[in-house]
Amino acid sequence: MSLMESISKVNRDLSSLTNGTIESHQLMETRDYQKNAVIPRSDQLLKDTISLTDLSPLNEGSVLGCLHQRFVNDNIYTNAGSTIVAVNPFKSIEELYTVDKVLSYHDQFEDSPHIYKVGYEAYNRLCHGLGKTDQCIIVSGESGSGKTVTAKHLLRYMTTVANSHGETVRRSSQHSLSIEQRILESNPILEAFGNAVTQRNDNSSRFGKFILLQFSSVDIPYRDGQMLGGEIQTYLLEKTRVVHQLPGECNFHVFYQIIKSLSMAQDTYLGDQIQKMGENPFTTLPDSKELSCNRDLTETLDAMDKIGISEMTRNEITRILVGILFLCNVKISALDEDVGKMSKEQDEDILESSVLEVSQTSLDQFADLVGLDSSFIEQVLLHRNIQSGGSKRRSVFVKPVSKREAYSRRDCLAMLLYSRLFEWLVSFINKQIQCSTYDNTIGLLDIYGFEAFNTNSLEQLCINYANEKLQQHYVKHFLNDLQKEYEEECIDWQHVNYTDNQACLDILEGQPSVFGLLNEDVQLNRETNTENLCDRILELSRSNPGYIKRPKNFMKSPGFTIFHYAGHVTYDGADLSTKNRDNIPQELVLMLQKSTNSFVSELFTGFMVEESTGRKRKTVLGKFKASLDSLMSTLHRSHVHYIRCIKPNTCSVPSVFDRKFVHSQLMACGIIETVEISKTGYPIRMPYNMFHQRYGLIIPNSKTPPDSDSEHTGCMNNDTIYEPLDMLYHKQLDLISHQSPRKSNTPKRKL
Ligand code: ATP
Ligand code: MG
Repeated sequence: MSLMESISKVNRDLSSLTNGTIESHQLMETRDYQKNAVIPRSDQLLKDTISLTDLSPLNEGSVLGCLHQRFVNDNIYTNAGSTIVAVNPFKSIEELYTVDKVLSYHDQFEDSPHIYKVGYEAYNRLCHGLGKTDQCIIVSGESGSGKTVTAKHLLRYMTTVANSHGETVRRSSQHSLSIEQRILESNPILEAFGNAVTQRNDNSSRFGKFILLQFSSVDIPYRDGQMLGGEIQTYLLEKTRVVHQLPGECNFHVFYQIIKSLSMAQDTYLGDQIQKMGENPFTTLPDSKELSCNRDLTETLDAMDKIGISEMTRNEITRILVGILFLCNVKISALDEDVGKMSKEQDEDILESSVLEVSQTSLDQFADLVGLDSSFIEQVLLHRNIQSGGSKRRSVFVKPVSKREAYSRRDCLAMLLYSRLFEWLVSFINKQIQCSTYDNTIGLLDIYGFEAFNTNSLEQLCINYANEKLQQHYVKHFLNDLQKEYEEECIDWQHVNYTDNQACLDILEGQPSVFGLLNEDVQLNRETNTENLCDRILELSRSNPGYIKRPKNFMKSPGFTIFHYAGHVTYDGADLSTKNRDNIPQELVLMLQKSTNSFVSELFTGFMVEESTGRKRKTVLGKFKASLDSLMSTLHRSHVHYIRCIKPNTCSVPSVFDRKFVHSQLMACGIIETVEISKTGYPIRMPYNMFHQRYGLIIPNSKTPPDSDSEHTGCMNNDTIYEPLDMLYHKQLDLISHQSPRKSNTPKRKL
């Protein structure tokens, strides 16, 4: 019976039922419908569909419908093959994250889609040595989609199920906190120093974070699986935020915490200083919204205390932060300038011959807080050293700088102090949580999402490059390798097309490439002409058309548009080269090393400034690429689990599901292709020896187990046709229940 015939028969039956003319035997009649002929249209069905692979028909509309229905019913997690889709609810759903929930996933009482299930799978694989024992969980999605919150819940899951049971792993007697608690305490510290309010997210991570949890393995195959420690790697803190924020955006949270807390603490030294400065002491600090995610300073300081940062050091850190704010308030002007008569550009370009002066009050405050002499700072801000002569007869001249350059030296000093402080915190946390001997790891990657603003610069180039790399890993690992494996194993397989982003990566990092050209400028110490640089970059379209294009307003503002997998982004060429160079004047570092404040001088001990030219000159892009390459090699040697976070609307509000916006995210990350492949492919994969161990009994004439995971002897049926795993499994069930074996409708594998 065809589907149409079946449907009209059902309709006839239904109408006779309503007319009261149906016979009882007709009601009892049962019919078989092919599963994929049934369309789960009703909202109820969609809401109960826990895996996108169960949708029929499977298309963008049904995927969107399913995610939408689940979202409105607070089912924010849905399976998509081996990936989990997590739609940000923008409201607290407490029952999703209770300790009971953690335990019910750990004890396998619950199996519905959840990030805890991903946590369970990673931990289970690690403990039982299934395939690659090192695990990685990649949490991806655009800004505000919920990556950081997801990573925090996963961390809590891991710390709960892999409890190290205390004493044995405590690093020193003065710490009463276990390793797990210390790892958890690192979160509020890094969020205070590394997160900020942006246009897209009130708690946006302005750095990438990869936390590698270290575990023990005692007995193979059943391992102990205790968490022994962890190591945090961070990527590219957006340090420019310290001195410059886009309209509507804020500085790092910690600055607001400090102001809020110190303006109430009038009887302290810092409180008094701030009071003396009047109503708005930090004119360079944009207003912050009152945020629920923006904790109180005491919470950040408490977390520092718990992790082992002494009170003295905590005070020093606070002083430096206040110092940075005073520094950003320092104004520079020319003694002979008649500001009123000058345009802004003229004002900034005041000739180097003009004598500059620095606003003293803020400078004195800064100097005092970081243990330096204000006249020394003034000298360093307003003059630069020029070296001449070879290595033997090197002499140094001191030359006054222009007003623009003086400001840029001031900003550089603020960024340098802040970024060193951030690095110091990460390395301190690592010392407190790292374990030197461990067996396996679970990595949690929470890296900034794809960004496309009105003006995009080097930061966005790095962020979007990182997302391209991760997407390539996903495409290669999941979509490409899986299909290749099917083809190699001669499984009847209809190839699923997907978008490969290799060509875009070639544009970014190949030979020649955007990165290559930008680095070349720095290494050859070329005086950068933005238009010329962008023209050279745009030449890349010859070898890779379709991925890079000249923007319409090139004449007004030279740049280039790159067609990323997640959308096109126009990069502004103006500051790319300067930012990539990241020149830190040596004089600034030497000055900080001489600070009478031992914490400040310690921050800069051994700090090396990059050589100015040469092939070995490291650039921001070069360093970022190297750290990402190392991350990619960790991913390659690990079993990778994916969580795709989806932002339901651009306003970050609960209960609004903007289908168009969600659709663009689903398309960009390849979820539809993943579901298609997962649906058509095999749901279960097992190494041959494990397969034999489990099913050998029912494979005729199979006595010898295979020698290794990859050898298939002993797993074969005598005919050349090998029945798929689920068929064998059902056969086994049927044998037990004495029923006749059922027919398999999964693809057969030819040998
Ligand atoms: P960015 O790339 O900007 O760092 P992100 O993807 O890390 O963004 P989050 O900071 O994790 O985004 O989430 C943004 C906000 O969404 C959170 O501050 C929180 O209010 C809300 N949110 C995210 N996930 C959840 C969740 N599971 N339950 C409730 N609210 C959530
Ligand atoms: Mg984040």
